[in-house]
Amino acid sequence: MTPSPDVLIAGAGIIGAACAWELAKAGLRVTVVDENFPACGATGASMGHIVVMDDSEAQFSLTRYSQKLWEEVAPSLPQNVEYDRCGTIWVAADEEEFAEVRRKAVYYRERGVRTEILDSGALHEAEPQLRVPLAGGLLVPEDSVVYPPAAAAFFLKKASDAGATLRFGQGVTSLTKGSARLADGTVMSAGKLINAAGRRAPSLTAGIAVKPRKGHLVITDRYPAMVRHQLVELGYLKSAHSSTSDSVAFNLQPRRTGQVLIGSSRQYDVEHDRVEPAILSKMLDRAFAYLPALRNCSSIRVWTGFRPATPDKLPLIGPSLEDPSVYLATGHEGLGITTSLGTAKLIRAHILGTSAEIPTEPYAPSRQMAAEIHG
Ligand SMILES: Cc1cc2nc3c(=O)[nH]c(=O)nc-3n(C[C@H](O)[C@H](O)[C@H](O)COP(=O)(O)OP(=O)(O)OC[C@H]3O[C@@H](n4cnc5c(N)ncnc54)[C@H](O)[C@@H]3O)c2cc1C
Repeated sequence: MTPSPDVLIAGAGIIGAACAWELAKAGLRVTVVDENFPACGATGASMGHIVVMDDSEAQFSLTRYSQKLWEEVAPSLPQNVEYDRCGTIWVAADEEEFAEVRRKAVYYRERGVRTEILDSGALHEAEPQLRVPLAGGLLVPEDSVVYPPAAAAFFLKKASDAGATLRFGQGVTSLTKGSARLADGTVMSAGKLINAAGRRAPSLTAGIAVKPRKGHLVITDRYPAMVRHQLVELGYLKSAHSSTSDSVAFNLQPRRTGQVLIGSSRQYDVEHDRVEPAILSKMLDRAFAYLPALRNCSSIRVWTGFRPATPDKLPLIGPSLEDPSVYLATGHEGLGITTSLGTAKLIRAHILGTSAEIPTEPYAPSRQMAAEIHG
């Protein structure tokens, strides 16, 4: 008889995969179960920008910690993960946004993140295809880009090399009290259960607030000289913060292949995954407004995906409220690729009862309950 695993993970997106690797490395017997195949959810649909963000101290702490963990693993990543330390330029269109450049630079500098303020001329030199005039930008050179499905596959391979068992094509229908029921009726017991089912996490842990937030992306044919950095408009911050309306923002990524990945849109309350022409053309118009040469490029694919979003824009990482055998690792919204490695470290600390390198409280699932109680 196969012994029960110490940990069963539901979901083989980048979060489940990173947790599996971290826990298997720690010597635990790990089983990963996915109803489809690895990275078939948000992970396979995403941009793969590894980015430090500062919407809140907690968001900064987890993204910065995770960015450093990506740097540590970078030398061991296979070619197909396409790790590229291209840096981010936050693009300021006007003086108001340039004030945000200065604020962000101070915030990052005070916390040890290297940045460079680019005036209008320096921005043009760094990215000659951007329209002129623009007010300037903030270069964050330590940000990077990966190809997320290959990253998840690599994490799973490392987990498997360390002894983890991988089971795909079989959904988990319940996850309670140390056992997981699979769609074919099999019941598997495990010391600990991790709900890493992305936007489907609420179907396994009732009462958690995780909602899908739809996004569109477009990828072009190969135009190697088009852009050098991940380019994000600072107006992005305004649109990404909206928790009700649909929004689009200029967000462009150079791929190792020479392709240009064009994002992105954000929509709540849309369940279907169809490409929506109205949103798509709004998103492309935004991109063309910043980078006019894009109009002459051919796109080869358009797709959508769903970010697993929480109301306070922080992930749920840690023990669930009602069942001490269940841990949550979900709700990473638009930052799950970035924060996968940090999430895995925090989950390991929770499960082994060791201390973590950053505070775990801001991501505790218990905060959602507190929010419910206090209105
Ligand atoms: C358009 C777009 C752009 C993005 N860009 C970025 C970016 O640039 N940088 C960044 O950091 N993040 C980005 N993200 C966010 C990132 O993709 C997500 O936060 C991350 O992929 C979430 O990973 P996950 O493993 O939690 O979820 P998923 O990747 O969705 O994985 C969940 C897995 O669980 C499985 N599953 C579901 N239910 C069950 C069940 N009952 N039993 C078993 N298995 C189950 C699914 O099959 C799936 O494989 C983007 C997302 C989108 C949509």
